[in-house]
Amino acid sequence: MHEAMLYTPLQDGKVGCQLCARRCTISDGKLGYCRVRKNEEGTLYSLVYGKACSANPDPIEKKPLWHFHPGSLVMSIATVGCNFRCQFCQNWQISHEREIFGRDLLPDKIVELALKTGCSGVSYTYTEPTIFFEYAYDTAKIAKQKGLFNTFVTNGYLTPEAIETIAPYLDAATVDFKGNANPKFYERYCHVPSVDPIFTALKAMKNAGIHIEITNLVVTDVGDDVKDAEKLAKWIVEELGEETPLHLLRFYPHHQMSNLPPTSIKALEAAANASTQAGLKYVYLGNVPGHQGANTICANCGALLIERLGVHTTSVRLTRQGHCPACNLPIPIILPEDLSST
Ligand code: SF4
Repeated sequence: MHEAMLYTPLQDGKVGCQLCARRCTISDGKLGYCRVRKNEEGTLYSLVYGKACSANPDPIEKKPLWHFHPGSLVMSIATVGCNFRCQFCQNWQISHEREIFGRDLLPDKIVELALKTGCSGVSYTYTEPTIFFEYAYDTAKIAKQKGLFNTFVTNGYLTPEAIETIAPYLDAATVDFKGNANPKFYERYCHVPSVDPIFTALKAMKNAGIHIEITNLVVTDVGDDVKDAEKLAKWIVEELGEETPLHLLRFYPHHQMSNLPPTSIKALEAAANASTQAGLKYVYLGNVPGHQGANTICANCGALLIERLGVHTTSVRLTRQGHCPACNLPIPIILPEDLSST
C-alpha cells in the first residue's frame, strides 16, 4: 500500500479525500467511493499503486487526442476502480471491479516500457486516472524527465487541488462528457450528483495551460437532446475557446444499457450541426469508422487537412508550421517534431 496524496486527517480517525469532487469522508478501515483508497488508522492509502491492469501502446487518436501529436503512440496505463458508476461503461470489468488486481509495474518500469515500444508519451486512461493519482503522478514526473509527454483521459471530476498538483507534468487531457452533459442524465445513469465540478475543472485545466479536447458520448434516446448539445458547445466556445476540439461519440450498447441500440448517425450529425452553429471550429464524429466527420477541414477555406480512419491518422496536409497549405490559416494542432509535411 502507498500513502495517498491530497487528504486530511479529521476527527475520530476519519480522513477527508480531496482528489475528486466526491470529497469522501472515510472512516477507519473503510474505502472511498472509488473502492481503491483505504483509511487505515487515520492514514489514507492507495490500494492500486504499481498495479497496472492495462499497459499497452495505443495510437494517440484512440484517446481521442486529434490535435496533439497526431500519429504518435502512447503507453496506456490503467488500474481498477472508478469514481463514477456509469451504467453504459465499456470498461466496467475493470472500472467497477471490487478486487484489486493487475501486474506489478512501478512508474520507472512504465517509462522504460514506453521508451522501448516507441511511445512518445504516457496516457492514463481506460479507468479514471484521478483514482490512481499517486501512481500517475510519480510516473508522469519520470516520463517528463525522459522527454515523454503525459495525457489524462478523464471524466473531469477532479478537484482544483488535484489539477494544480498534476499540472506541471500534464501536457494534455481528454475530458469526457456523457449524455450531452445533461445533469439528470449524470444523476440517473452515472450516479453523479452534479456536473458543475467538471466545468470548474475544465477552466482550471485551461488556466494551467493544459491542451484540452472534449468528448461527448451521445446516448440513444436518453442522452441525445440537441438543445443540451448546443448548450455544451456554447459553454466550450465561451470558456475554453472556439478552437477547442469536440468529439461527438457514438454510443454502443454496453453493460447495464445493452438494451439500447447504437446512437443513430442522424442524432450524431444533429449534435454536430448544433455544435458548429454554436461556434466550435473543430467538431468531430467518433466511433463511426469511415465517416467524413473524422477528418480535419480548414475552418477558413474548407481544404481537407487531416484524414483519419478509425483510430489512425492516414494523411496530414499541413505546412511545417502547422498552417493550411491552401490559405495559410494556422491550425491549432500540436505536431510532433518529426512529422514531415506535404
Ligand atoms: S478519489 Fe475516491 S476516495 Fe477520493 S474523493 Fe474520489 S471517490 Fe472518494
